[in-house]
Amino acid sequence: MENKILGIHHITAIAGDAKRNFDFYSKILGLRFIKKTVNFDDPKTYHFYFGDEVGSAGTILTFFPWGEQIQQGRKGSGMATEIGYSVPKGSLDFWQNRFEQYNVIYNKPAEKFGEKYLTFLDPDGLKLELIESKTNDNRKPWETEEVKSNVATMGFHNITLTLKNIKATAEILTEIFGYKLTDQDVNRYRYRTDEVEEAAIVDLVELADEKKGHVAGGTVHHVAFRVKNDESLIYFRNRIEAYGLEITPQIDRQYFHSLYFREPGGVLFEIATDNPGFMIDETLENLGKELKLPLKYESKRKEIEETLVQIN
Ligand code: ZN
Repeated sequence: MENKILGIHHITAIAGDAKRNFDFYSKILGLRFIKKTVNFDDPKTYHFYFGDEVGSAGTILTFFPWGEQIQQGRKGSGMATEIGYSVPKGSLDFWQNRFEQYNVIYNKPAEKFGEKYLTFLDPDGLKLELIESKTNDNRKPWETEEVKSNVATMGFHNITLTLKNIKATAEILTEIFGYKLTDQDVNRYRYRTDEVEEAAIVDLVELADEKKGHVAGGTVHHVAFRVKNDESLIYFRNRIEAYGLEITPQIDRQYFHSLYFREPGGVLFEIATDNPGFMIDETLENLGKELKLPLKYESKRKEIEETLVQIN
């Protein structure tokens, strides 16, 4: 089987208050809360996963909610600065009204690369966009009482990385990940892979004078790219190592297997597999209902549960 990068797998960001984060993404934005677990490196804090019904790659947004005392991050170079969601055509009016109703900070809709989009901030100041895609997005959205399928998000459209200089990052995308430059507008360069229809775009924005960003509350921690299986994961591990970059060994993240490396522009990249998926420890119907712990923390469940705040 050919080894390919299949677009975005998931995006992970840092939040403050856990309940506020849970409420914003599951209620206001209407994403499905697919997994409630802990940070595997710090089990006293949550790790939340939001996505479509099954947690398909390309729809998964995850958060480390570190509590309200968290230090605020700063957007800048060497980081992912905008998360773009695909929404149905004609849905931006609904979203604008909804943001108005819930006091969400947003900008008036604008257009880039011929697509209308609406920028907004989550309660921690994380910047997101809802984009009416030019092409038909055939993904099945998760529907809630208030956010029906005719307006609901369908997963990622793109991710934007801000860089002092795009050259080295662009080379990783084109030489190793199989992306191609498809569009350019001033300092925004659009790269796309043909391997998947959606979640296929990475925008690189070049800002030579931009200060280095600080990863903390309200910023993206890392961007994960998707591969089919462990064999592909190891293939890319070898490619990246041969390219001269440091990369971690394969790590078991319970719901996928991962590698991490810092691309030369400063952004933390992950490569993650489809297997084993979110149904490994919960049924489809019960996704996100209970606190899930990796085996090594099960013996401490009571203690962990007592330290975590109730969210639902
Ligand atoms: Zn990740």
